[in-house]
Amino acid sequence: MKKKKSQSNAQERSPVVVIMGHVDHGKTSILDYVRKSKVAEQESGGITQHIGAYQAEHKGKIITFIDTPGHEAFYAMRSRGAKVADIAVLVVAADDGVMPQTKEAIKHIKKAGIPMIVVINKIDKQNADPMRVKNQLLEDEIVLEEFKGDVPSNDVSATTGQGMDDMLDTINLMAEVEELKADPEGPAQGLIVEAELNDRRGAIATLLVKEGTLRVGDIVATSSTFGKIKILENFMGEPLESAGPSTPALVVGLADVPQVGEKFVVLGTLEEAEIRVAEKKKKFGKEREVLDVHEGMRVVNIVLKADVAGSLEAIHEVLRGIQNEEVAFRMLEESVGDIAESDIKLAATANAVVVGFRTKMSQQSVNFAQQMKVDFVMRDVIYELVEAVRAKVTELLSSKIEEVEIGEMKILAIFRTEKSRMIVGGKVTEGEIKKGVKVRVHRNDEIVGEGRVIQVKIQDKIVGRVEKGKECGILLDGHVKILIGDILKAYEKVETKIQL
Ligand code: GDP
Repeated sequence: MKKKKSQSNAQERSPVVVIMGHVDHGKTSILDYVRKSKVAEQESGGITQHIGAYQAEHKGKIITFIDTPGHEAFYAMRSRGAKVADIAVLVVAADDGVMPQTKEAIKHIKKAGIPMIVVINKIDKQNADPMRVKNQLLEDEIVLEEFKGDVPSNDVSATTGQGMDDMLDTINLMAEVEELKADPEGPAQGLIVEAELNDRRGAIATLLVKEGTLRVGDIVATSSTFGKIKILENFMGEPLESAGPSTPALVVGLADVPQVGEKFVVLGTLEEAEIRVAEKKKKFGKEREVLDVHEGMRVVNIVLKADVAGSLEAIHEVLRGIQNEEVAFRMLEESVGDIAESDIKLAATANAVVVGFRTKMSQQSVNFAQQMKVDFVMRDVIYELVEAVRAKVTELLSSKIEEVEIGEMKILAIFRTEKSRMIVGGKVTEGEIKKGVKVRVHRNDEIVGEGRVIQVKIQDKIVGRVEKGKECGILLDGHVKILIGDILKAYEKVETKIQL
């Protein structure tokens, strides 16, 4: 762990930690264990509410944990270039080892540029093999400290609690090394971690303060909404007067439900806030349309539907994350709600795949999609959705058979003509001609027939292939009469293999 330069005018703040890893490896169990054992107030009967983040205390130090299902907040914030967490904890089950979603998480953590702690969970299990996991991690260039690398790790069990204090010690140590600081003075700014519409209280949102201090009565603006804070609460539902750096706080008073990952600032007046939001909305709308496509890239059109706005943001980011040099996703539409016939119509006209996250689709719509030959993928778990989209896109793109020209030959002599066979001679002018390939016979810019190369000879010697510049004789199978001066264009059909 390297020391970072400290900022002036800033005070120490607690670390914000996100827990990532493969499904079922124990993320929720670890968060629950810490919440139960390290949140003092709960023991005295405090009611915890799920607001997407909570704070625990370990050896006198506060640690803020991001606690959202599937870590949508982390993905969504990255889509907006915001940094939510200071430290990522990568959980790998000792009995299961590195899995695809572990690798996915590693990629995201690396891209986010935050330090990582590896936590090997379920060491209480009989078939636990932490050493195997540590070796597997080397494949992804995660070199643990015990192998002289720079990634700390702990072996734990969220079930028995073994190693959990060590994990929290590691987090505290890493926070200390990172020298996390913020200025608690001045107006607050930070990020939206979770938001929803509550039937009793209206729009409610969990804000994570990054700088400054948030107070009741402050005027807050995000990129999509604004309002005056009427109520501020901590994660246990207790009223707060103010919230400083690294503190998650639930706020009531925003006009609309903001999207997860939006930044917020505190402004002087409601008018100022309104103007800022209007400007941001305009700018954001434009930014979204930009798609970086280069030559040779395959673009897959997507119609995206999700249960809430926060999920849309997350899936958008996740899908962008699995794009590569060969495949890009173009979001034709992103909206909240069930998959309706109108979505299928849109997908049918644009040859798009409908992707639904935590949404429903009526039987009627399913039938309609089948009738229109529209592909759709629906899942409730973010990682499963990613895998399903990957599989679907790979299937769609790979099923395309493409023709590739491999060579050309100019006919200089006709040696023998039979009913469906010919022996001809000529010179290879482009690429190569080889046994087994199909050829088209071109004469004066017209295709006059087709055939297949059965045998290739150079001066009476059978060969496998002949390259550009050389002369050869070929035995050709096909119902076509070749003449001197014809050009044979050889091609192969290749199945494109696209790996996402
Ligand atoms: P998540 O999908 O990563 O959030 O995983 P969960 O926390 O939901 O855990 C998946 C399953 O593994 C649950 O049945 C847990 O009870 C179990 N589990 C989690 N941690 C441990 C552990 O340390 N030991 C054992 N034996 N089981 C565990």
